[in-house]
Amino acid sequence: MINAGGLVRLGALATLPIVASACQYIPALPSLPSFGPAPRAICSGSGLTVDIDFAEAGRHDCIIGPDGSVVVSVDHEPAYVESINPSPWFAFRITTEDAREATVTLDYTDYNHRYAPYVSADGHSWRKLADSQVTLNEKKSRATLKVDLTAGANWIAGQPMSPSSDNLDWTRAVLGGFGFTEMKYGESLEGRPLVGFVGGGSLEAIVVLTRQHPPETSGQDAYRGFLERLLKRGDDKALAFRNRYRIVIAPMPNPDGVDAGNWRLNAGGIDLNRDWGTFSQPETTALSQWIVAAAGGRRVVSMMDFHSTDKTVIYAPPLESASPTIALLPFLKQAFDSKLSAPPEWNYNHNPNGGTSKSWALEALKAPGITVELWDQIPTADARKLGATAADALIDYFAK
Ligand SMILES: [Zn+2]
Repeated sequence: MINAGGLVRLGALATLPIVASACQYIPALPSLPSFGPAPRAICSGSGLTVDIDFAEAGRHDCIIGPDGSVVVSVDHEPAYVESINPSPWFAFRITTEDAREATVTLDYTDYNHRYAPYVSADGHSWRKLADSQVTLNEKKSRATLKVDLTAGANWIAGQPMSPSSDNLDWTRAVLGGFGFTEMKYGESLEGRPLVGFVGGGSLEAIVVLTRQHPPETSGQDAYRGFLERLLKRGDDKALAFRNRYRIVIAPMPNPDGVDAGNWRLNAGGIDLNRDWGTFSQPETTALSQWIVAAAGGRRVVSMMDFHSTDKTVIYAPPLESASPTIALLPFLKQAFDSKLSAPPEWNYNHNPNGGTSKSWALEALKAPGITVELWDQIPTADARKLGATAADALIDYFAK
């Protein structure tokens, strides 16, 4: 807890009666009244306090240098197997007594900066930093941000934040009045409820998922565009679709990972979208069993799982796959190609042992499992439009 050079560094176990400066020792807590009781504040000094005491905060430590600049380390969660997808999520809060410009460096050690920084004064309304406010070192392992802090709290995060409650609340609200049933289909490793929604018709079924991977919120934006269009399109085809197809929705299959600020994994250190075969984790076990139960023996004609990556791309099974509704795929591709200004690439493959929801859908449900990947930096409106276009394609292809 003691650093040379006048730096104040408070860890999670901060007993910290003493802080060292270059020339004298002073009691830490009495000199930092604004620090308060927050147990997860990670550093403080020069009138700034940095903390991670909120859902979806990243895994950080930090120092405040003699010049008042802040250096925040960006770490990943413990991974059960070697290597982790380089999705270096960050989210922390800087509280300042006075408005000022601050220099904040993100230190990724062996990883590279990926997510464009966003700032917020309330944790809800976000502004992306201009490119001119972000400087990378040559290795891209450190990103230095120039941030105009407002007096009070300032959140800095890799995307507009969306903790686990957010997509559940959004889904609950958009489904309101459409006769959906909300149910707890299981519990996460840390005991959080796993919540799904079922509604629509009763003859056949579709399945939709998002947020297996915590930081992938542009995929969640597409999911939202998809669901809104699926529910709110008002023509006869849309009504016929909703009367025929049971709609099975899992908006938050990895709440522990999301709220812990994980890069990729659940609380067990497992990539859930590689676990749909071994089912070693409660989240995948409960979700797969619930999907089968919710489909209730009906034919599942499509299972879409929305994600994010460094480009917008569709991962689909080969067109010759043994699924009675595989011809949805060229119809969906045609819809994207004709309606989107930047249509996604397509990648066709099937690995029955890959452990993805996509491969499980084909193996277990004979449904085309479709992984819809949105570019990290795609504008929200474009992500929503892609989702809406996918919903239109399902309605237009399947409505009878
Ligand atoms: Zn993903």
